[in-house]
Amino acid sequence: MVELADDLYQQMAQAPYLVLTGAGISTASGIPDYRDSDGVRRGSAPIMHQDFIASPATRKRYWARAMVGWRGVHQATPNAAHQALAALQGQGLISGVITQNVDGLHDVAGSRNVVELHGNLHRVVCLDCGMRLRRDDVQLLLEEQNPYLQDVHAVLAPDGDAQLAARFLEAFHMPHCPCCGSDLLKPDVVFFGGGVEPEQARAAWKAVEAAPGMLIVGTSLMAYSSFRLCQEMSRQGKRLLAINMGRTRADGLLSIKVTQPCEQVLPQIAQRLVQGSQSST
Ligand SMILES: [Zn+2]
Repeated sequence: MVELADDLYQQMAQAPYLVLTGAGISTASGIPDYRDSDGVRRGSAPIMHQDFIASPATRKRYWARAMVGWRGVHQATPNAAHQALAALQGQGLISGVITQNVDGLHDVAGSRNVVELHGNLHRVVCLDCGMRLRRDDVQLLLEEQNPYLQDVHAVLAPDGDAQLAARFLEAFHMPHCPCCGSDLLKPDVVFFGGGVEPEQARAAWKAVEAAPGMLIVGTSLMAYSSFRLCQEMSRQGKRLLAINMGRTRADGLLSIKVTQPCEQVLPQIAQRLVQGSQSST
């Protein structure tokens, strides 16, 4: 395993790789991921985009659980893996970061121009009038209207969700848009069955086109939008490297795979890359 990490370093020392991250990079920050090491999904059924739009009951369930789950996202801080990537980007030693995560931790760590394939939980949009809100402000509305949920503790689930007993839903008051009064407030994230924002998709493909290869960190690549980026890299004859604890959908395309925690491996590699770049200048 040590040798594999060394191979990975040797590859990344040759040119600034693009980095694609998933839930596995944020687990050390206390944010649960979706799947176990065999790629099997954990937790409750995901929210489907069409359900969310069409069903007030689905929105109610979402926002009640999200009110409780928000504490986990709000309090989370970047770990050594996020920081290593921010440092590498700052030195021009990686070409950029694409993430499937919606926790915003790459930004907090100092990464710039992060391509957020699945959006960002820190933003909320009104689907009726288009108003954009800060999630923190929506949380204030939620807490004001649902004080009974303030002290409820629940097991956190991925994406700022929490496992909340159904009995808590009955008395729940939905948040409404402060501008138009609509209850069609949606977190600015891509739910299952929803599409990646065209602007983010374009930025991702452009980054793939420009990079000499890609390092995949902490994702099983079950989301097709991410897997396609890997397929395209591979089609262009570029290398795919990975740091991931379990199976990935792209295992057959990888040149090197390190199965160690990314928050341990990435800082070591980053340190060597930074030292290497300083000694060569
Ligand atoms: Zn509105």
